[in-house]
Amino acid sequence: MAKVLIVDDIEDNIKLLWYNLEDDEHEIESASDGYQCLEKALSFMPDIILLDLMMPGLSGLETLKLLKTNEKLDAIPVIMISANDGDESIIHALDLGAQDYVTKPFIYPVLAARLRSAVRLKESQEKLAEANKTLELLASQDPLTDTYNHRHFFNLAGAEFAKTKRYERPISTIMIDADHFKSINDKYGHAVGDQALISMASICQDLIRTSDFIGRLGGEEFAVCCPDTAVEGACKLAERIREAIECSVTEHEDVRLQFTVSIGVATLTPEDLTFNTILDRADSLLYEAKQGGRNQVICHERKSALT
Ligand code: GH3
Ligand code: MG
Ligand code: MG
Repeated sequence: MAKVLIVDDIEDNIKLLWYNLEDDEHEIESASDGYQCLEKALSFMPDIILLDLMMPGLSGLETLKLLKTNEKLDAIPVIMISANDGDESIIHALDLGAQDYVTKPFIYPVLAARLRSAVRLKESQEKLAEANKTLELLASQDPLTDTYNHRHFFNLAGAEFAKTKRYERPISTIMIDADHFKSINDKYGHAVGDQALISMASICQDLIRTSDFIGRLGGEEFAVCCPDTAVEGACKLAERIREAIECSVTEHEDVRLQFTVSIGVATLTPEDLTFNTILDRADSLLYEAKQGGRNQVICHERKSALT
């Protein structure tokens, strides 16, 4: 069963198709001109449109063009139906994106078979698009923490860096590394360590803005990229992250674990030619935070803010 929209200016043509389609248990709507077709298509969201070629006002081909240039409707397959079986109009309709072309008078079982075939194709295209989305997600995410993986984080950060340079806007980055994580694993086991990483990532995700993004760069090390953010804003965010992780309790079976993180924050300077140089500075500042006793944030000095 499919949702079918019949478009024809002649009532009897609609009726004939409607009765046949109803016998095949399809869900049906109809429209008597091109504008009504667009309206009905948007509200009914049919699986397929049977579109008459010859209509007063907006012609079938003009309607088809509007359907195929509307991003909400362009995926709906359209079968053109017309008494005009000239090669040119068939070529024109198919070139404009029609799925198929049936000439009147048609044999209903043949039209019905073409309709089923077009709907099957649409369904398999939808399944493919869904599978592609899942694959894209799998290829860009860290499976443990659902943050971006190293490669995807760098791709996005590189693109943000290019935008930032072009529009002379600030960008900052925050490097976060769990303190004494090895001893957490040693003391409580890997599963508790994993749970701690999951909480660490989820605390960061909750605190960052929607325009910021986070990646797992390695074992217990994450980076947050903050586009359009000067160093002061990024330092405040880093401090909130540090504090939230220090105050949180990770629970796993009978273990209740508290741990801390050290953080380095760097911002764009006029000398930076790639995102990596900012990240390297954040990494050095993170190292300073470790040397300085851990559980602290070290920020890039303001001296290098954009002018
Ligand atoms: P520091 O405070 O200097 O950062 O010390 P650290 O122990 O956190 O750092 P180190 O680099 O010596 O050890 C990192 C530890 O993180 C060792 C490794 O087993 C652990 N680790 C890395 N990836 C994972 C993971 O996916 N799951 C778990 N449970 N542990 C991990
Ligand atoms: Mg560590
Ligand atoms: Mg580390």
